[in-house]
Amino acid sequence: MITEKNSEFKWDYAPAPEAKDHAKIKKQYDLFINGEWVKPSTKKYFDTISPSSEEKLSEVAEAGEKDVDLAVKAARNAYEKTWKKMPAKERGKYIFRIARMIQERSRELAVIESLNGGKPIRESRDFDIPTAANHFFYYGGWADKLEYAFPNRNPKSLGVAAQIIPWNFPLLMAAWKIAPALATGNTVVLKPAESTPLTALKLAEIIQDCDLPPGVVNIITGFGKTGAAMVNHPDVNKIAFTGSTDVGKLIQKSIAGSNKKLTLELGGKAANIVFDDAPINQAVEGIVNGIFFNQGHVCCAGSRLFVQEGVAAEVIQKLKARMETLIIGDPMDKNTDVGAINSKEQLLKINEYLKVGVKEGLELHQSSCSIPSKGFFCKPTLFIGAAQSHRVVQEEIFGPVLTIQTFRTIEEVIEKANNIPYGLSAGVWTDKGSKIFNLTSKMRAGVVWANTYNKFDPTSPFGGYKESGFGREGGLHGLMPYLTF
Ligand code: ADP
Repeated sequence: MITEKNSEFKWDYAPAPEAKDHAKIKKQYDLFINGEWVKPSTKKYFDTISPSSEEKLSEVAEAGEKDVDLAVKAARNAYEKTWKKMPAKERGKYIFRIARMIQERSRELAVIESLNGGKPIRESRDFDIPTAANHFFYYGGWADKLEYAFPNRNPKSLGVAAQIIPWNFPLLMAAWKIAPALATGNTVVLKPAESTPLTALKLAEIIQDCDLPPGVVNIITGFGKTGAAMVNHPDVNKIAFTGSTDVGKLIQKSIAGSNKKLTLELGGKAANIVFDDAPINQAVEGIVNGIFFNQGHVCCAGSRLFVQEGVAAEVIQKLKARMETLIIGDPMDKNTDVGAINSKEQLLKINEYLKVGVKEGLELHQSSCSIPSKGFFCKPTLFIGAAQSHRVVQEEIFGPVLTIQTFRTIEEVIEKANNIPYGLSAGVWTDKGSKIFNLTSKMRAGVVWANTYNKFDPTSPFGGYKESGFGREGGLHGLMPYLTF
């Protein structure tokens, strides 16, 4: 057990960098439309970099309105002529093929994910890539069983789905979007985030190798403007968006009055609640996993810690000790716990919030480790003595920053945890099953983890309450947004 006293004796690990040479990144990527690589009509390309070294990795095309139109037309054509008519069992086979090919190329995908996104290789190798493959396997299984999923309801596909994803789980979010859309018989135009396009473009190569009929999946790159053109295209039937609450609201406004179906997975500010009967050591590990292991780059990150007063001192002391042992630095090193912040803009935003918290009078505590001089890094940070009114408690920071509040009663903590515009997820740590059920039934959050945190499975639905969005992804529920009955 690590205590603050012995944490200074943490082991020094020799560097264990993952080899990068098998990851094939082209110098330039075009748009993947109708099964082919197409030059953008804008003639513009933008750099994509590694946030841990600031090196340029490649440049990718910026899709304009014309390109979006081309991609939507390809998707429509593939939908009407091929995909809609194909027996569901055959559609399933293609999805399984994609899943297997992701597994086969998992090492390469993991390396590229960590290079382009900054997350530790351990995360991308052990979580992102296998879970993305699992997602395709899971939905591949549903393709020919829709009438069993929704008996007597005659489920039908919608048509063309425009899917826009963020930078925190680039390949996994692409899988979350594409797999259920294909399984339900829809075709897709997908746009990855501008800072992390590379694994989605690798997925396009995989899709090409799988001989998926041209136009069934189109992958285009660009900024918010490209996303807006996808949303506003008149021939799109369904929009699936994961990203910020601000952009989610914009999208909702811009499709008002149209017949487009929409799912939004937006921001979060999850409460991680520790009762005084909790297994404290496990809870501390869960807190660290919830906010630090992923640089806080998770919509469901456990960014607000609530500790019952009786154990607050112990939890904070153990948390500080554990933070001292975290290894921060090169995402390609297998020992690294906390990688790079995804972009310079995001680091500036986090640093701004650190100033806000201090100005609000909170006690700031950071790991004493040093951080690399190049690249975008932020030390794991605690804000002790936080209250509901503080901005750092109310607003999504999307970085390794944890606010700590204390509470006395279960009613008080439910009230405080729910008193926020978001409602994506929460965590609870206690020895008592009855307390778990009492609390989970009153939490206004889409997912509540009990005595664990940040666990995902393709069979389990995920989605928000309030400003965290609506619609569910994952599980049988994740099929519904892509169907009409
Ligand atoms: P984040 O803060 O996670 O980067 P954003 O909402 O800014 O969240 O970005 C998520 C995705 O939405 C990205 O792929 C981005 O390019 C896209 N996007 C940004 N602005 C718009 C917009 N106005 N319409 C549609 N998509 C957009």
